[in-house]
Amino acid sequence: MAIESPISSSGGVGPRTCDEKDAKALEFIQEMTKNADSVQEKVLAEILSRNAKTEYLERYKLDGATDRNNFKSKIPVITYEDLQPEIQRIANGDRSAILSAHPISEFLTSSGTSAGERKLMPTIQEELDRRQLLYSLLMPVMNLYVPGLDKGKGLYFLFVKSETKTPGGLLARPVLTSYYKSDHFKTRPYDPYMVYTSPNEAILCPDSFQSMYAQMLCGLYHQKEVLRVGAVFASGLLRAIRFLQLHWEQLAKDISTGTLNPKVIDPSIRQCLSQLLKPNPQLATFISTECSGGQWEGIIPRIWPNTKYLDVIVTGAMAQYIPTLDYYSGGLPLACTMYASSECYFGLNLKPMCKPSEVSYTIMPNMAYFEFLPHHRSFSATDSSSPPAPPPLVDLADVEVGKEYELVITTYAGLCRYRVGDILRVTGFHNSAPQFHFVRRKNVLLSIDSDKTDEAELQNAVENASQLLEELETSVVEYTSYADTNSIPGHYVIYWELLVKDPITKHPGDYVLTQCCLAMEECLNSVYRQCRVADNSIGPLEIRIVKSGTFEELMDYAISRGASINQYKVPRCVNFTPIMELLDSRVVSSHFSPTCPHWTPNRPN
Ligand code: AMP
Repeated sequence: MAIESPISSSGGVGPRTCDEKDAKALEFIQEMTKNADSVQEKVLAEILSRNAKTEYLERYKLDGATDRNNFKSKIPVITYEDLQPEIQRIANGDRSAILSAHPISEFLTSSGTSAGERKLMPTIQEELDRRQLLYSLLMPVMNLYVPGLDKGKGLYFLFVKSETKTPGGLLARPVLTSYYKSDHFKTRPYDPYMVYTSPNEAILCPDSFQSMYAQMLCGLYHQKEVLRVGAVFASGLLRAIRFLQLHWEQLAKDISTGTLNPKVIDPSIRQCLSQLLKPNPQLATFISTECSGGQWEGIIPRIWPNTKYLDVIVTGAMAQYIPTLDYYSGGLPLACTMYASSECYFGLNLKPMCKPSEVSYTIMPNMAYFEFLPHHRSFSATDSSSPPAPPPLVDLADVEVGKEYELVITTYAGLCRYRVGDILRVTGFHNSAPQFHFVRRKNVLLSIDSDKTDEAELQNAVENASQLLEELETSVVEYTSYADTNSIPGHYVIYWELLVKDPITKHPGDYVLTQCCLAMEECLNSVYRQCRVADNSIGPLEIRIVKSGTFEELMDYAISRGASINQYKVPRCVNFTPIMELLDSRVVSSHFSPTCPHWTPNRPN
């Protein structure tokens, strides 16, 4: 039975008719968003009653209460650091009901870090169903705007990452690795709207080269059937394009001969691709012709001519990649479909074909209990004067349009009033559920891929690296940084102004400065180092030495634009074009990390 979509699509292409499965999903969205407040009340009561006997809720004497007033007056708002002791006990094997009455099934390793290591987020088995539910809503919404997506395939570059075990034997791995390895994903029923070119065998291969090679090869084979191209984040899709630039010759050779690159040794990939690979010299010639000229502009629609949109997140830190994606895609629409984290999947974009700058995510009230800490810039963590007491938290249905909030969640897995660290601005409502623009993640200075480097980490890295200059009686007097995404993969650039006591005999040369680059990388957090070593998604760190006096010029420039001379602080990260131009015009030498820093999947104890 065909029905009319209940989701208003003003500003979009729809509404149009959709099939029964889609209709159910859209009705579910309507039901949840129309009753946002009562769904939230129910979710909180459900979480509190099932977890009433946990050590955590008993500690705060909730005494089985499941209402908002008791909850808000007794349970503190916390950060990951506050929960470290409980998390450590669970990791060490304590199976008692510490945070959750349901057994902790595994830890999800967040890209957010604490003391340089990924945060460990406890999760429970049934959370997989909740994640699956959110995924199941994405295509029904997309189908309202883009017709015919059941007539072809999606070329999605999806990867698993390494996993470890905690001392107590629980798995610790990223949320997507957990999802791709679950039966929910591996044995998903056939759905014409969700046919991917990448076989599970390729997605599940832990070696990133072999996985990417196989996924690209399959994408090229099915090039005419591909209707959408995607990856989770923009950086991932650009890595795939870079891979094509580097390996198209071998890929074309494989296609021409119907054989598989001997570097792909994973037996399950070889087995699975042996059924696909047939010599196709015509396709190989086409790919060679498109790739050999060194002309990469618009390469996506040239190779995959039926692509209707790119499915990648380009909100938040990923917005820096929009111009590059536009270059390779010839301006294809960019769809940001969902907003999620290791702690909890939050919600979806009900107008997925809108411009990236207009993306708003509707938080689904059934996913967790959501509260919002009003965010004022004057309360920011970097403010050294003691801030006023934080204002009370606001419920999901009560946030106000135009205001900014920090997201605080209470999850089924046992996080209670946990500060996620994301700053969101309310842009409007869908029924009674608010919609949010993702403003930024708190305290993130530099980000290229999933790495998030804060000011303290950068400072520590600079201090450590500059010790190598002590012998030369040289010090770093000022520094700033820049996430350079002009090349793929992007890399960190650190501008250093040096004070060299004896420029004639003790000027630091290239060797020592490249060692400084490496020393900085060794100090950065494990997510950064994993991106460098295992994923190759970040290039070698670069130090650019600027002429002495450059940072004074930077200050003069800021003051000429209205900054107060008393309050001026050197920005520790820059991306404003005139400032970049000023800095780059003063560069005297540049140096790159000569090798990869250390990284192993195992966490130090
Ligand atoms: P992780 O815990 O490593 O899964 O990272 C989750 C974080 O990624 C979120 O808290 C956000 O800061 C960021 N993130 C996730 N989805 C989006 C999105 N759609 N737009 C912007 N940032 C996002």
